[in-house]
Amino acid sequence: MKFVSELVKSEKTNLLDFDRDGLKAFFVEMGEKPFRATQLLKWIYQEGVDDFDQMTNLSKSLRAWLKQHCIIQAPEILLEKIASDGTRKWVIQMSCGNRVETVFIPEQNRGTLCVSSQVGCALACTFCSTARQGFNRNLNVSEIIGQLYSAQKRLGEKQRITNVVMMGMGEPLLNFDNVVAAMNLMMDDFCYGLSKRRVTVSTSGIVPAMQRLSQVCDVSMAVSLHAPTDTLRDELVPINQKYPLSELMAACQDYAKTGPRKHITFEYVMLAGINDSIGDAKALIKLLRHVPAKINLIPFNPFPGSDYRCSTGPIILKFRDVLHNAGIVTTIRKTRGDDIDAACGQLVGQVKDKSRRHLKFHPALS
Ligand code: SAH
Repeated sequence: MKFVSELVKSEKTNLLDFDRDGLKAFFVEMGEKPFRATQLLKWIYQEGVDDFDQMTNLSKSLRAWLKQHCIIQAPEILLEKIASDGTRKWVIQMSCGNRVETVFIPEQNRGTLCVSSQVGCALACTFCSTARQGFNRNLNVSEIIGQLYSAQKRLGEKQRITNVVMMGMGEPLLNFDNVVAAMNLMMDDFCYGLSKRRVTVSTSGIVPAMQRLSQVCDVSMAVSLHAPTDTLRDELVPINQKYPLSELMAACQDYAKTGPRKHITFEYVMLAGINDSIGDAKALIKLLRHVPAKINLIPFNPFPGSDYRCSTGPIILKFRDVLHNAGIVTTIRKTRGDDIDAACGQLVGQVKDKSRRHLKFHPALS
């Protein structure tokens, strides 16, 4: 594997930027047979080979051509932190001084990788520290699939990544094409072969993109709901002002009809005194009455400068019981990796902000 730092910016084509269809099209354009795509994908993702000379089922001339014109290049892991519960956070170097974060969460029978889709985030959810970093740019395909590629290499054979959640930095559905291509690679039998039940996209509710996704890429869907009414959600998740709850619920209903899990997971961050009353739970039940739903309650993870507090343990349990008694499967997300700032909403990386949003949040200016 060649890392960015070892190379002066390369004019070569990075093969990690293509899913199978993209790679086929690339080879056809180069006058090669399309089946070369599957051969290459197997070498890269299943054999872990990045040296074209070792790709013995390719002709010598093709290998020479690939060496001259192509490269297999994942972004560099700059820093690794390991939490007391085994959660690992990697800081990953992207171009122009930007960094994103990727988190690995080991559990008894599975290993979940939390992948970033953008440098920062263009949305402004009030309880999320990524939002405060502002936004720089979309990650390209190699930078998204490269997180899985590099993480699995670092973990080695003993710890397999069995699940991927697009819940790192950024709004995945605002980087639609690149995220879809990367998820295609995750699920491709010639690459990682993860089942569509084990790849989850988490969205703040970009309604038209949810509709598009159901047509092109059949992955599990999690929606960051966080509020049962438009008034409150307009404030906590401002994209709600553009795609209000009535439209979001309709999109969820449609997605559940075709999606692999036949239900939507709703994430709901527990904020003391803001969205955690019994009345809120009842409003949530009413809101979700026509949607096949599971609810994942997320204890709020604090970060420097945040005004919110997490709901107390008893309040969270009570909230869960109300939902549960209404027949909604409700889980409470175990907070993982908080001692290394790897928990939900704590990922910050290093964002060369172009939105200038951080100025609005700067304590000295507010
Ligand atoms: N932009 C996407 C994916 C990234 S966030 C989305 O909104 O779904 C992953 C999850 O963590 C989201 O549900 C997000 O709302 C939640 N989250 C953000 N900040 C948090 C915090 N401080 N504590 C707990 N959860 C948080």
